[in-house]
Amino acid sequence: MKPLLMLSLALLPLLQTGTARAEWMERVEDGIMGTRIVVELWATDRAQGSAAIEAVLAEMRRVDQAMSTYKPTSELSIVNARAAQEPIKISQELFDLLSTSLEYSRITDGAFDVTYASVGYMYDFRKHVRPDEKQIAAALPGINYRHVELDRKNGTVHFARPGVRIDLGGIGKGHAVDRGIAVLQARGIDHALVTAGGDSRIIGDRFGKPWVVGIRHPDRKDEVIARIPLEDAALSTSGDYERYFDENGVRYHHIINPKTGHSASKVRSATIIGPTATRTDGLSKTAFVLGPEKAIEIYNRLEDVDAVLVTPEGKVLYTEGLAPPE
Ligand code: ADP
Ligand code: MG
Repeated sequence: MKPLLMLSLALLPLLQTGTARAEWMERVEDGIMGTRIVVELWATDRAQGSAAIEAVLAEMRRVDQAMSTYKPTSELSIVNARAAQEPIKISQELFDLLSTSLEYSRITDGAFDVTYASVGYMYDFRKHVRPDEKQIAAALPGINYRHVELDRKNGTVHFARPGVRIDLGGIGKGHAVDRGIAVLQARGIDHALVTAGGDSRIIGDRFGKPWVVGIRHPDRKDEVIARIPLEDAALSTSGDYERYFDENGVRYHHIINPKTGHSASKVRSATIIGPTATRTDGLSKTAFVLGPEKAIEIYNRLEDVDAVLVTPEGKVLYTEGLAPPE
């Protein structure tokens, strides 16, 4: 026994130089933020890699706890319950994300608007529940990002009128992905992918090559309509096939036009590429609301962003920064 053990110990350093101990690790976790989380990374050793993956998942659970509207005790739920009565002191993280949200509302002519939830809360796409026209008309005045008043000095949020609700479903996953990447970077990991639902961010390359991310066909989920090589970038896809139900030939889905309170259907899917997942997530709803031409105009104006849109007719449109398909 003993000589064998010594022999294997003696071999160990040799093996380590021969075959690197570093390895590519992957973890898929369902349930956080109601979606699928994927973490892939290149770790110099397995224990370090596992600990890093755990830390990313813990960070995502933390963000979910604070920002979910499904959890009545979340910071966001407390804001929704009380901010119409008085200014509510909030965490720096929530303050910053709300202020970024308002910036995106201004960039997108109000197409992105976290107060969509003033009407949006009445939809339940899983249960095929939607508000009727009377309910929408009554709640619609609550939608307007200008109702969200942020006071930086006091670190508070206040709603300008009753009936306002906010929901970070359109930006929270992107934020969580960026937080996950920050956790990995703090641990010295420089090749990784973090995904939450339709929002992903990549640092570094993958075995010396760019990552290749596919954009799916809106109706045929196994069919890829475009492949995009990415390094050090974020990508978000929104689609009307993600959470929806069809009724009398109308698709009711989870992206809401803030002007009407109805589902926004001017594109079938929108994929945004940019520097952070917060930004790509926040901008991927715009095309549904404003339509492809106006949205492409806005995306082209933003120097750090590109987009691929699929129109209701199945046409694929690209911003200037992306080579057109062959
Ligand atoms: P995912 O939830 O998979 O990340 P999206 O990024 O497409 O999907 O975001 C859709 C979510 O955005 C909706 O479920 C809703 O919470 C939120 N949302 C819907 N309409 C708007 C809007 N006009 N502005 C901001 N957020 C919206
Ligand atoms: Mg998203």
